[in-house]
Amino acid sequence: MIELQKISKHYPVGFGKNEILKDVDLTIREGEFVSIMGPSGSGKSTLLHILGLLEEPSAGQYLFQGERVDKMNEKKRTQLHRGAIGFVFQAYHLIDELTVYENIETPLLYKNLSGSERKSKVADVLDRFNMVAKKDLFPNQLSGGQQQLVGIARAIVAEPRVILADEPTGNLHSDQAKVIMELFKQLNDQDKITIVQVTHSDLNATYGNRIIQIRDGHIQG
Ligand code: ADP
Ligand code: MG
Repeated sequence: MIELQKISKHYPVGFGKNEILKDVDLTIREGEFVSIMGPSGSGKSTLLHILGLLEEPSAGQYLFQGERVDKMNEKKRTQLHRGAIGFVFQAYHLIDELTVYENIETPLLYKNLSGSERKSKVADVLDRFNMVAKKDLFPNQLSGGQQQLVGIARAIVAEPRVILADEPTGNLHSDQAKVIMELFKQLNDQDKITIVQVTHSDLNATYGNRIIQIRDGHIQG
């Protein structure tokens, strides 16, 4: 599903330690649940951002379902970015001025859907996550765990093939973290969504079926 070939990333600042990723080769097959682990500053978020089209690599190839991402036209990239890939952030990144309902709806605004189609897709996700009663609340009226549920609802509403999650339980208590991890497991098992999470937690990693260790911008082993 995802293939990285000799991906490097550097920032044009100063000398020395500006090479964040070095010749990263990585294959992620459809249906996998992969955990990326490694010390702080090792390049985990940068790698995930490249996979999610939030950042561009400096060199190397990224293929999504066999197709070179850098050769895609703007429309195709947007479909990938807003459709086939869902992104979940550690700090949720919800829009404070929008309600739960409106936050979940945002990825659908990039699709060619009628208002009633959007409404039914958001309603389905709200129902599945038991959040119908919270749909008109704003993010600051929710607990961290509930905000992350909204973050995941937003990530899946456009029916992605892959979810990329950057330390999705990093700000949560362990009981809330468990709810979130069980949900990812269900999305992987039942919905057949490929999951790639960055995590520091050995417990979180047990939910997945492969661990990738990254250190100083290199994948180990
Ligand atoms: P991790 O998620 O593993 O903690 P990151 O991918 O966030 O690591 O960062 C890896 C390295 O890249 C860090 O040294 C960080 O300071 C650096 N870095 C990240 N983003 C930028 C940027 N926009 N400009 C310059 N350096 C950056
Ligand atoms: Mg990080």
